[in-house]
Amino acid sequence: MNAPRSTRSAPTRDQFVALDTADRLAPLRQLFELPPEVIYLDGNSLGPLPKATADRVQRTVRDEWGRGLITSWNHAGWIDLPRRLGDKIARLVGAAPGELVVADSTSVNLFKVLWAALTLQRQQATQRRVIVSERSNFPTDLYIAQSLAAARGCELRLVGARELAAALDEHTAVLMLTHVNYRTGAMHDMAALTRAAHDAGALAVWDLAHSAGAVPVDLNACGADFAVGCGYKYFNGGPGAPAFVWVHARHAAQFEQPLAGWMGHASPFDFHPEYRGASGIARALCGTPPVLSMAALDCGLDSVLAAEPLGGMRALRDKSLALTRAFADLVDARCAGHGLSVVSPRIDAQRGSQVCLTRDEGAYAIVQALIARGVIGDFRAGEPGVPDILRFGFTPLYLRFVDVWDAVEHLRQVMQQGEWRQPRFNRRHAVT
Ligand SMILES: *Cc1c(COP(=O)(O)O)cnc(C)c1O
Repeated sequence: MNAPRSTRSAPTRDQFVALDTADRLAPLRQLFELPPEVIYLDGNSLGPLPKATADRVQRTVRDEWGRGLITSWNHAGWIDLPRRLGDKIARLVGAAPGELVVADSTSVNLFKVLWAALTLQRQQATQRRVIVSERSNFPTDLYIAQSLAAARGCELRLVGARELAAALDEHTAVLMLTHVNYRTGAMHDMAALTRAAHDAGALAVWDLAHSAGAVPVDLNACGADFAVGCGYKYFNGGPGAPAFVWVHARHAAQFEQPLAGWMGHASPFDFHPEYRGASGIARALCGTPPVLSMAALDCGLDSVLAAEPLGGMRALRDKSLALTRAFADLVDARCAGHGLSVVSPRIDAQRGSQVCLTRDEGAYAIVQALIARGVIGDFRAGEPGVPDILRFGFTPLYLRFVDVWDAVEHLRQVMQQGEWRQPRFNRRHAVT
């Protein structure tokens, strides 16, 4: 599946329509409630609503809660949801059944696994007290690491993406990275960096927020130590959907989780006054699972797993790369002269499922003007040395090639007519 090349003759919308006709994944779009007038390029921030979700949540509320009342913890299988959903996610990230659970938020799970990693290092009586991460990592990851570093007498060392391997040394306890950068879409080589961490005697903690469900991930093949990820992005679990946490089997028996709640107890319903952690990943649970949110996440996961008979993550990845490549090439070809540049890596193996553009001026307003036209992407503010970004996520489950064409056509018109300069597009909202 290759997007038309812009080198020979100018690309046309018909060529993109033809790509959709040939797309084996095209029927999956039917699984989603998508407003017909919208081109949704923000599934990397909040996945869209699967058609199955509303009924499922309603059944959970009306039948399971309303009629089954407390018996639904057993009869409707509520108590198994963290593990059952975890097993579905495991299939999508290269983990084995029983190695992964759904719980809490990404931020909270990151706290747990970073704590666990630091404790494993201390148990081996190492003097390692540095957490290495990337300066442009997602803020919550950095904040969690800062709070842990303060609590545990450690140091957080932030370096650029290219300096990571060189920053690992005999003082490094943990390499903590987000696989796909939220801002640029740049993707790390998980296998190589995990190996580099291990060679230096450090443990590797991966945040899969922008990769789980978007790119093939193989946690066990990479030999990663811990991983966390998000339920409401590419897993389409709904706003605030619970997150997931994975621990490699070699640590499952001894990792220490700091939030020792009763759901992580070896036998929670014995109501024993002493904490005794469950064996394995169940120990990563803390409190009562949010059943309604889990029901919605279950439908979101099924929407991704629906691709399995059609080639699964590999097929999704091929289409995602074709979509992102086509978008970047079309912006180059059709929006030339408007000061926009593609900042996401052009090399496929280094790019997640998004394309980011930058412009010296007006990035926020351009995104707002596009949203007014029904093309929903988002804006991420820069900082000294990092430009403002227009961010477009491409989810192959429901996006069409013609959406890529139409989105770029809207962008071309917004730029050509200076539409973004209107004052209404330059007022900031609370959530960007
Ligand atoms: C989206 C995202 C999060 C979200 O964390 P929450 O606890 O769900 O708010 C965390 N880390 C990264 C890298 C993300 O992209």
